[in-house]
Amino acid sequence: MLDSSDLGAPLPFEVDRVVTPSTAPPQLGYAPVAVQTWRRCHVDGLQLDEYGDCHRCQAERAHKAETASRRAFITLMALVASLAVLVGLFFAWRHYESTAQQRTAAAITKANGNKVVVYTTQSCPACTMARNHLDAKGIPYVERRLDADYTAMPELESLEVRVLVPTFVVGNEVMQGFDPSGMTLARAMAKHNVPHGKPAPATF
Ligand SMILES: [Zn+2]
Repeated sequence: MLDSSDLGAPLPFEVDRVVTPSTAPPQLGYAPVAVQTWRRCHVDGLQLDEYGDCHRCQAERAHKAETASRRAFITLMALVASLAVLVGLFFAWRHYESTAQQRTAAAITKANGNKVVVYTTQSCPACTMARNHLDAKGIPYVERRLDADYTAMPELESLEVRVLVPTFVVGNEVMQGFDPSGMTLARAMAKHNVPHGKPAPATF
């Protein structure tokens, strides 16, 4: 059996066998007329095809790719599912929070004779505007002054809102800030059946 060292220069591939004409006596120095060779896969020693690939490695690569894409799909699905669960939990929490706030607001409204309750301070301009509006419209309301009544602040805080003035409680609804048009307040009052009083007489 010959190997590549018998052929002089090292070959760029492995020689599998050297075929000599059957009629020629095998003798030293006889030039081989045909050299049948194939390159072998360095992993498993199988014959490489014309693209330098072996069928086992090819199959293995395909299998790996399939496994990887299946794993990626499963991971993606798991991510989507956990995201859906998180979103669901978030909305459940939001719902719980808002119903808790609504219960607190409704209790405050009831404790104040079903009137509009407004948390204010003496000097805030929006509070003055709101006070003037309520008076001008003859809306019955209870003013809770944060700067004058130490029970007002914990009550406002029990609504789980930012401490802002003015903050309105209308029915079970909490509204922060004053819309100078009075429309936001009017809409909330209508929604919660909070009756208007008689308009205060105009003062000149
Ligand atoms: Zn191979």
